[in-house]
Amino acid sequence: MHHALSFDVEEYFQVSNFARTVTPADWDRFPSRVEASTERVLHLLDEHGTRATFFVLGWIAERHPELVRRIAATGNEIASHGWDHRLVYDMTPEAFRADVARTKGLLEDLSGRAVLGYRAPSFSITPRSAWAFAVLAEVGYRYDSSVFPVRHPRYGWRSSPTDPHVREAGEGRTLHEFPPLTLRVLGARLPAAGGAYLRIFPPALVHLALRKAERRGVPGVVYAHPWELDPDQPRIPCGLGVRVRHYRNLERMESRLRALLRVFSFTTLAEVLGLEVRA
Ligand SMILES: [Zn+2]
Repeated sequence: MHHALSFDVEEYFQVSNFARTVTPADWDRFPSRVEASTERVLHLLDEHGTRATFFVLGWIAERHPELVRRIAATGNEIASHGWDHRLVYDMTPEAFRADVARTKGLLEDLSGRAVLGYRAPSFSITPRSAWAFAVLAEVGYRYDSSVFPVRHPRYGWRSSPTDPHVREAGEGRTLHEFPPLTLRVLGARLPAAGGAYLRIFPPALVHLALRKAERRGVPGVVYAHPWELDPDQPRIPCGLGVRVRHYRNLERMESRLRALLRVFSFTTLAEVLGLEVRA
């Protein structure tokens, strides 16, 4: 059984954890590291004969078109992470439509293939931005992987289903929803989809969640970021909480991903959902 593996392609300085200290106007001043760190991801996938979905920021695609072409040429899926990491619930539906349409258009031009998938920055489709599904379907997206069915200060939709499902998306349209992996323990639901949860907590948590999903016959989706495989990235001054969430165990992330790839079988989200990515 195949699970889905995904990478959100963004720079180390674009994450929501730094949004208060580093604004988009500052981004061009930071040294770019996304090409080298994504190359590390591609190498890891190649070593294990695995493919994955890459949710790429439009801002990155505009500055690194060769990187998008290279990800697509290696048989991986290109999907959209929006243009400039603005959170969905901070945008109007009109601004969101422009953001996801512009990103989809650029990624399709560069990759030469249809872009079917979207993942919101910081999983920011929540009950207060539920209008986003209709916009995504209208613009031509076929699936979304933005609804994290957990509680979190910045995101989360606790009552949303934990398994992949099809959502009504207005005007007779539907959208596949592929929620990040969670684990049920003693009545609580924990996020277990990778990223900081794979770095900070014991990796057994993600392994157990994938095994339990397999027993139920349901695929899980795991995610990580290229910057999480780059322990030498420049340090941005921040408080203790952000320091733990962003920097903790960066030097261990590659081996933890490697262990997951050895034990479980992964492919792209589109393939797990049975969607054909047309040229
Ligand atoms: Zn992101």
